[in-house]
Amino acid sequence: MCHIALSEQAGGHRTVRAMSIPQERRLVTAIPGPKSQELLARKQAAVPPGIGTTLPVFVTRAGGGVLEDADGNSLIDFGSGIAVTNVGNAAPKVVERVQKQAADFTHTCFMVTPYESYVRVCEKLNELTPGDHEKRTFLVNSGAEAVENAVKVARLATGRQAVVVFDHGYHGRTLLTMTLTAKNMPYKQGFGPFAPEVYRVPLAYPFRWPTGPENCAEEAAAQAIDMIGKQIGAENVAAVVIEPIAGEGGFIEPAKGFLPRIAEFCRANGIVFVADEVQTGFARTGDLFACEDEGVVPDIICTAKGIAGGLPLAAVTGRAELMDTVHAGGLGGTYGGNPLACEAALGVLETIEEEDLVGRARRIGDVMIPRLLAMSERFDMIGDVRGRGAMIAVELVVPGTKDPNPAAVQEVVRRCHAEGLLVLTAGTYGNVLRFLPPLVMPEHLLEEGLGILEKAFASL
Ligand SMILES: *Cc1c(COP(=O)(O)O)cnc(C)c1O
Repeated sequence: MCHIALSEQAGGHRTVRAMSIPQERRLVTAIPGPKSQELLARKQAAVPPGIGTTLPVFVTRAGGGVLEDADGNSLIDFGSGIAVTNVGNAAPKVVERVQKQAADFTHTCFMVTPYESYVRVCEKLNELTPGDHEKRTFLVNSGAEAVENAVKVARLATGRQAVVVFDHGYHGRTLLTMTLTAKNMPYKQGFGPFAPEVYRVPLAYPFRWPTGPENCAEEAAAQAIDMIGKQIGAENVAAVVIEPIAGEGGFIEPAKGFLPRIAEFCRANGIVFVADEVQTGFARTGDLFACEDEGVVPDIICTAKGIAGGLPLAAVTGRAELMDTVHAGGLGGTYGGNPLACEAALGVLETIEEEDLVGRARRIGDVMIPRLLAMSERFDMIGDVRGRGAMIAVELVVPGTKDPNPAAVQEVVRRCHAEGLLVLTAGTYGNVLRFLPPLVMPEHLLEEGLGILEKAFASL
């Protein structure tokens, strides 16, 4: 299942063998084992507690659908480093390209002396992102930096200042992007004052919409639009920034019709519609980009996470007429579009295409959703099963109510981790289990992971 690349490349660059890891769950110690515990103690002494740890095993190798740790355990990975290793860890095409690039040159600064791979990544994103209008792309280092730059472009291009974001939104941890983020704890608590001219409106959250999911899209859009008109003034709004599926907020897929309605309102009012596809991008949801599901064409799209297999890279892709308004030197950064990261991104895009990872993501959803729906019949603490492709979640409630049940989430997570299945949590109320397997995960591991999850629920 895991590929091996031992190749002599053109140009005489020797490439080191890409990892070939047995695609199996294997527990040889308790989780975490003694070596990981020793490393954890060193971490605690050297790294501030503000940097959390979801599962304290220290990784030594990873690939396909597994993570291997310092004690020799092999864990099933339902996290992909938070939706990053969509093509798998150490994907052969990524490894090969990065190794060659590292031997050629590691940095020049694209703003000082450019190189082709940066331009190639931008050409590919201009071609692959939704909409056939003329586009431009520039590269930065992180999702937050991409979102922050999208706002800079939108403000300059419109001459307006206000930015509208949504309940449950997550956009990063810099001053502006934590301001754009909805949830206080842990992202904002004590870190104020926040950036000005940020306004929050309702999101069409079907499971929790007061009048029920049928009315959700229409009512939420009407409320959001009314608030923009009455509280801000549409003519003052530079950008509306939205995740097509809210990630950290709990994998909330806005009710169908909501996104197109908001995009249409933006178009009618000269507001830049910014899609934050940092978590939803690069085949994760069963489309290359999640906006495609309802045919929404953003004015600017921000990408990161899945873009480069884990090398730090992010992109801002937008309408040429917006992007070209920025004066020379107004955008950039020392490392943005680092050559290793660009080569990794090209390897990711090749892998997505050659291995049909869009199709694989859909297949993962087709396997997971029915299994989870069956579990929701059996376990009444599962209030909602949702998501698309390989971006799937369950929301846990106190049985018989819709009250959030974060304690049950913590307990399920604990049992899954002890059994060697890495799962992540999310949600404004901390009551969502989210599943983000690498798209290359072999199906037997996917099934085994779901079995562990089911056992965890059954044992509660
Ligand atoms: C992770 C994330 C970000 C921030 O990306 P970083 O690379 O961590 O800065 C922004 N938006 C969304 C939707 C994300 O999931």
